[in-house]
Amino acid sequence: MPVRGRDKVDEESRQSWFSHQSEEARPYYYSVYLADHDIKAEIAPTERAAIMRFTFPESDESGVVIDAFDRGSYIRVMHDKRTVVGYTTRNSGGVPDNFKNWFIVRFDRKIRDFQIYDGTKPVEGEQLVGEHALVRVGFVTHRGEQVMARVASSFISEEQAVQNLGELGKDDFETVKAKAQARWDEVLGRIEVEGGTTDQYRTFYSCLYRSTLFPRKFYEIDKNGNILHYSPYNGEVLPGYMYTDTGFWDTFRSLFPLLNLVYPSVNAEIQAGLANAYRESGFLPEWASPGHRGCMVGNNSASVVSDAILKGVTPEEDIATLYEAMLAGRRKVHPTVSSTGRWGYEYYNTLGYVPYDVNIPENAARTLEYAYDDWCIAQVAKKLGKTNDAAMLEKASQNYKNLFDPETRLMRGRNADGTFQTPFSPYKWGDAFTEGNAWHYTWSVFHDVEGLIDLMGGHKGFTRMLDSVFVVPPVYDDSYYGFRIHEITEMQVADMGNYAHGNQPAQHMIYLYNYAGAPWKAQYWAREVMDRLYSACPDGYCGDEDNGQTSAWYVFSALGFYPVCPASDEYVVGSPLFRKAVVNLENGNKIVLEAPDNSPENRYIGAVQFDGKSYTYNFLRHSDLVKGAGVRFSMRPDPDYTRGTEPGDAPYSFSRE
Ligand code: CA
Repeated sequence: MPVRGRDKVDEESRQSWFSHQSEEARPYYYSVYLADHDIKAEIAPTERAAIMRFTFPESDESGVVIDAFDRGSYIRVMHDKRTVVGYTTRNSGGVPDNFKNWFIVRFDRKIRDFQIYDGTKPVEGEQLVGEHALVRVGFVTHRGEQVMARVASSFISEEQAVQNLGELGKDDFETVKAKAQARWDEVLGRIEVEGGTTDQYRTFYSCLYRSTLFPRKFYEIDKNGNILHYSPYNGEVLPGYMYTDTGFWDTFRSLFPLLNLVYPSVNAEIQAGLANAYRESGFLPEWASPGHRGCMVGNNSASVVSDAILKGVTPEEDIATLYEAMLAGRRKVHPTVSSTGRWGYEYYNTLGYVPYDVNIPENAARTLEYAYDDWCIAQVAKKLGKTNDAAMLEKASQNYKNLFDPETRLMRGRNADGTFQTPFSPYKWGDAFTEGNAWHYTWSVFHDVEGLIDLMGGHKGFTRMLDSVFVVPPVYDDSYYGFRIHEITEMQVADMGNYAHGNQPAQHMIYLYNYAGAPWKAQYWAREVMDRLYSACPDGYCGDEDNGQTSAWYVFSALGFYPVCPASDEYVVGSPLFRKAVVNLENGNKIVLEAPDNSPENRYIGAVQFDGKSYTYNFLRHSDLVKGAGVRFSMRPDPDYTRGTEPGDAPYSFSRE
């Protein structure tokens, strides 16, 4: 942090007022005016490095504080008097004991003077291994004088941090900034939209930006060009890819399908990293940050891994390892991280569900997700010709039926003796479910919506239950948590009954109307959610953004389709937001989506043409789209009720014939 004043060292004394009026934040550039120091600070990035530019006032007390944090850190001022290196061991868990985040800071001029501290205590000399190492380096500046700092970090070593600094080359600040902007233009330009409002463009590209932030690259490139990584699982430096910082409970739903469609080369690296995670820890992560973390439920790494294998994204050499990893995850749970693997697998694999009364919380949510995860693995088993595995897994994928309560037509916790949990309230959050209630979780049958429709008594019964989610009042029971979690508040303020878009379990629900012959209801609600729960303002999200999942929902929905069931080939049609959208695929093909008469009023689909031919399905196939496709939606202001709600005469058929 740039400072003015010799005594401005610890975080209390160096703090500064700043205003958002004097701040600029872009994906490739950030600047802020630090009012108490009269300094403008700017930064522009590469992948593992950045260049900083500090514009100082007239002062002989100008300086920069490099704070390596408390709980164990190291600082060294190098003999060239221009460079500071060090590491921090500060972390909040999920790392081996030898974790170090190395850094290097190289200034464009000689440091005039410096002082190392351990916390607030000055320390003599040019280096310190201490509890809290930090250094203040000093410069004399005239008004408007700029000091440049080139910085890089590494999880591997000091030498690798120096290597990573090479990403900046000899580029000056403006060149680094221009290259970063070009890189973001390339990433965000994969999808081009037109025929919307400025605010819709801002919302769309903000969502696309957030969809590409996580997971993050945790691998580095050595001086010979080899890919390597510090393993957050076993603490070794090993060859190959590694990504981290994502929670699959959220991101299996549409974030990873978006990567498979638009950025498959990135997900190929992520999948290679998942195979490494299994090799290094014996488990696929469910919540990596950066190692295994105990968070949420399910075994949805199976969805993330399967979708990539089935869509041809996964590197060939990692498929066998990843298949083995998915099967292994069905039969064990991590010894210290209960959300990794399958907590309750012994019950699930014998009874077909995780019971409500065996002291495993959120058991119904676990069962429903395990069943879907089994279906995902089954699809890979089929592709690999493992017919016995496939049959066993397909059977297990029907386990969701064990929790369906015909009396309430909702999913409900079930005791080990086969009786349902009592008492039961569909408004109770948590308990048998995870950050949601039975109204939200009953739809977590991504892979067999037709089966769920049968359980609910056919299309009419199913549609009535879906309608009910929006109609029942936004009342809640928060007794499981003992306080109102923010997800509940977000549901209440949305004015959509018990529909809770601010959290993830219900986010595919709107699209299920398509399976029951009422696609116009999906079209209505998709547009309502896009219009009312997303905006281009600082409060433009309706709840947790959650590693890109809530953003990826919008990106898909604005294009006009959504991946209800990852690991299947289908995207379910909703209501396209723009008059035209073009997806520029990595293979050089384009998906051109047109809705020339689209408008806020014309939210309903009247007809669809695919490559110039009438198209009567209400889903699109991934395998068709990646070949390049032209999809034309005819939009209209009122729903097409003229056809009934039975399968044969629905306006768009879910028939796969
Ligand atoms: Ca969430």
